Amino acid sequence: MSILKLAIQKKGRLSEKSIELINECAISFPNSTGKLVAKCYDFPMEILFLRDDDIPDYVQDGVADIGIVGENVAVESDKNVDDILKMGFGKCRLSLAVPRSFQYNSIQDLQGKSIATSYPKILKNYLDKHNIQAEIHVISGSVEIAPSIGLADAICDIVSTGSTLLSNGLKEVEQIFHSEAIIIGNKNLSEDKKVILDDFLFRLNAVRKAKKNKYILLNAPNASLDKIIQILPGIKSPTVLPLAENGWSSVHSVITEKDFWQIIQQLKEAGAEGILVMPIEQMID
Ligand code: ATP
Ligand code: ZN
Repeated sequence: MSILKLAIQKKGRLSEKSIELINECAISFPNSTGKLVAKCYDFPMEILFLRDDDIPDYVQDGVADIGIVGENVAVESDKNVDDILKMGFGKCRLSLAVPRSFQYNSIQDLQGKSIATSYPKILKNYLDKHNIQAEIHVISGSVEIAPSIGLADAICDIVSTGSTLLSNGLKEVEQIFHSEAIIIGNKNLSEDKKVILDDFLFRLNAVRKAKKNKYILLNAPNASLDKIIQILPGIKSPTVLPLAENGWSSVHSVITEKDFWQIIQQLKEAGAEGILVMPIEQMID
């Protein structure tokens, strides 16, 4: 019996969300503190807890079959792995930043300058594309202090809110790469493992689709039904059931989170009452 080995970040920004998604797929494993590997109880999968930077390497070599890692790490590592699925969390960007006093107009202003980064490959690629020759200083942590200690004229680092840049007297001038967590996979998975992976991806998709949708129930006077049904997009047409009270119906449907509040408002205006909105656990087409 095959087991699919999934590598996730042991401790860091992607750990909690990765574990949460696995659990929501009805896959559970013993509490992992301090352990390197955990075997799942109810699914043929083993979880490997690693430093994120090691994950692409391990997936390429087959120590792990698949892994959840930031696209920034996957692309920078330049390993020979498959990109399987974008996960929709861990969003951030890789940006160029310069001291606030730097008169920056365009990327041309970095011609011949020195730039500190932990992402030399992604940076080089971007600079080459814009015909910029710059000296790249590779440093592994606290990149944002490089300009103030005179190590570099600019930096290229991960930004999410920009507050770290601000507190180091820097301004963001170019966004060069947008990243989120992705699943990467080994290129030579056995047929058995592919079957397990498909099952896992099927569950993941159902969970993620469900998260984006809500189940909605409401009561409506029959005279308003047509109008209310028009407002509800749903996956098909809504279910309409008669209420015990004459002249009233109960309407059930699924709506997306995106236009949620707008739809609720319209429903109220159209005469809907007793609106209930519920989370959906899984959604299977
Ligand atoms: P490890 O100890 O595993 O090497 P790390 O310190 O390299 O961890 P984290 O800071 O936990 O990594 O970030 C993991 C990933 O989270 C990043 O590679 C990136 O894809 C994503 N991420 C999302 N938002 C941010 C952010 N604000 N800063 C840094 N990374 C972020
Ligand atoms: Zn790391």
